[in-house]
Amino acid sequence: MKIELLKGDITKVAVDAIVNAANSSLLGGGGVDGAIHRRGGKAILEACQKIRNTQGKCKIGEAVITTAGNLDANYVIHTVGPIYNGGEKERKEKDLLANCYTNALHLAVKHSVKTIAFPNISTGTYRFPKDKAAKIAIATVQNFENINEIEKVLFVCFDEENYNLYKEILKS
Ligand code: ADP
Repeated sequence: MKIELLKGDITKVAVDAIVNAANSSLLGGGGVDGAIHRRGGKAILEACQKIRNTQGKCKIGEAVITTAGNLDANYVIHTVGPIYNGGEKERKEKDLLANCYTNALHLAVKHSVKTIAFPNISTGTYRFPKDKAAKIAIATVQNFENINEIEKVLFVCFDEENYNLYKEILKS
């Protein structure tokens, strides 16, 4: 498995699966979620609505898979990151963030996805500290039990700060 880093817009990458930092409603939101639905078109929202109708909301740390609509991918994997509050809750929030990456990868393997792109889940509106989130993202991907079934993991950083953090961690 190869890890690559890219600074830019995740809706413009060509991979088998693009991961979305969704919210538990699965019905779209701002940030990367809004960008994916805008560029991917209504097929993604329709697929999310179907999932909503059968299983209800998506729990924090869990993931669901849909078509990628007009995006240059076969699938979008929607996962719901934790809202960061820190303090006594931090341990749990870190575990939930790790679950996002693990559960997205499990779905990827199940659907024979070989290349997958992740945004920096929870580091926008959900205000997870970027340094902590980056360490969790990279360590969780590297330690994923079936990582040999994935050929490439692309971390797509939208902002300079995340990009530099990922670069530093991946160098060491
Ligand atoms: P969350 O609610 O999980 O924090 P956000 O979408 O608010 O989700 O932010 C998650 C990360 O996605 C942030 O680092 C944000 O800068 C980034 N982001 C926003 N738009 C895009 C995009 N088009 N491509 C990649 N990353 C994006």
